[in-house]
Amino acid sequence: MRVLLVEDNERLAGLVRTGLDKAGFAVDGGGTAAEGRDALAAATYDVLILDLGLPDEDGMVLLRELRARGSTMPVLILTARDGTGDRVKGLNEGADDYLLKPFAMEELVARVRALLRRSGRALEAVLTLGNLQFNSAFREARVSGRPLPLTRRELDALELLFRRAGRVVSKAALEEAIYPFDKEIASNAIEVLMHRLRKRLQTAEADVGIHTMRGIGYILAEKTP
Ligand code: CA
Repeated sequence: MRVLLVEDNERLAGLVRTGLDKAGFAVDGGGTAAEGRDALAAATYDVLILDLGLPDEDGMVLLRELRARGSTMPVLILTARDGTGDRVKGLNEGADDYLLKPFAMEELVARVRALLRRSGRALEAVLTLGNLQFNSAFREARVSGRPLPLTRRELDALELLFRRAGRVVSKAALEEAIYPFDKEIASNAIEVLMHRLRKRLQTAEADVGIHTMRGIGYILAEKTP
C-alpha cells in the first residue's frame, strides 16, 4: 500500500511517516503542492494525505485538480483549521475524510485503513500461512476462514511475525513495532504477549505456531505434522 503525504511541517511529516511505515505502508512525501503534483504525476498511490496549509498553494487546489482528472484516489485532509467551513469545503471538493491537527497517530492509521477498505484497495493485502490469514488493511486475522479475535497489540505482533514468516524476528524489533511511543515497557512484555498470542492460535486450531529462539527472537512457521 503506497501513501503520498503532502505536508510542509517537517516534524509532523516525520512522525506520520514513521507511524505509517510501522503500520506497513510505503510512504512518499512532499512539502509543497508542487512536489505533491510531481509525485502524483510520477507514481500511483493508494491514498493521498494532504495538508491544506501548504507554503506555495492551498492543498485544496491539488485536490480539485485530482478530481477534475477523474481520479478516485482516496484523499484524507489534514488541517489545523478549526472552522467547519474548511472541512465542509474539503469534503465538497472530493476529499474522503479529514483529520484535525493535532491528532493521534493511531487514529490516522485507522482512518487510512478505513479509506482503503471503503475504496476496495485493500484486497491484495492478505497474507496467508497454513490455515492462518492476515489482512493488514482490514486489521483482521482468520483461521480456516473464521475471525480470530485479537487485541491491537496482538495484531501488531502477528503482522510483524507474518511479514517475516519463517525468519527470526528479534525481541527488540517486536518492542519497537508494538510499543513505538512507550519509553518504558516491562522487560517481559513481549514474552507475555507472545504467550497470549500462541494460546489464541492454539485455541483456534491454527496450524501455524510461534517458536521461541531463546535469546534471539521468535519465528512464525507452519507446524510440522
Ligand atoms: Ca501546513
